[in-house]
Amino acid sequence: MPLCDGCGAHVDDAHIRRRIERLEQATRFRPIHIKVLILGEAPPEHARDFFYAPPSDHELRSHTSQALLEELAIVGGIKVVSTASTPKEAVLSEFQRGGFFLAYAIECPVPNERELDQVIRRFAPTVVRRIQSSYRPKHIVLIGSAVARLIPLFDPAGLRDKLILSSEGSAFRYGQRTGGSGSSDGNDSLGSRIHSAIASLL
Ligand SMILES: [Zn+2]
Repeated sequence: MPLCDGCGAHVDDAHIRRRIERLEQATRFRPIHIKVLILGEAPPEHARDFFYAPPSDHELRSHTSQALLEELAIVGGIKVVSTASTPKEAVLSEFQRGGFFLAYAIECPVPNERELDQVIRRFAPTVVRRIQSSYRPKHIVLIGSAVARLIPLFDPAGLRDKLILSSEGSAFRYGQRTGGSGSSDGNDSLGSRIHSAIASLL
C-alpha cells in the first residue's frame, strides 16, 4: 500500500484520489500571492464538508462546515447575507481576491484527536517547509490547539514575524471567549477575533 504524502499513512488508491481532489479544489481558489495563510489542523472527514469543495444541491453541508464558511467570510470581511443560502462560490472567490487561503497542517482527515496531535508533531518540519517554499504567505493565522505545536518551530524558520497570534498568545480556537468586556454582541466568534487581529495589518 502506498504511503500518503499528505498524512504519512499507508493508504489505498481511493485515499490518494480524494487527496488529489482536495488539492485540485483548493488550487482553484488559491491566490497567486497569499496575504493571509489560515492553517487548520486537518480537513473534515466528509468530502462535501471540505472548505473548497464545490457546493452541491442534493448534499447538505454539515453544520460545522457551514459555520466555518461563515467564520472565514468574516475573517475576509465578506458580507454573508443568510446562512442556508450562502453562495459558496462567491464567498470563496472573495476570499481568494482578498489574498486569503485556508490550508491544513495535515492534508488528509484524521478523525482521532489523539492521533491528530501525534501526526502534527511528526509532520511539523514538513509543514514549516511547505509554508516557506510553497505558500510563502505574508501573514499566518493558526486555528486549533494541535496546530499550536508548530509555533516553536516558526522562530528558527524565520517565520515568527509572520505569525498572528490570538489574544492569549497562541493559536486561535473555536468557542474561545475574549473575556474582559463581557460584551454579548458576537465579537467572540472565531471569525471576528481573527478579523480584528489582522485588521491593522492588511
Ligand atoms: Zn493521506
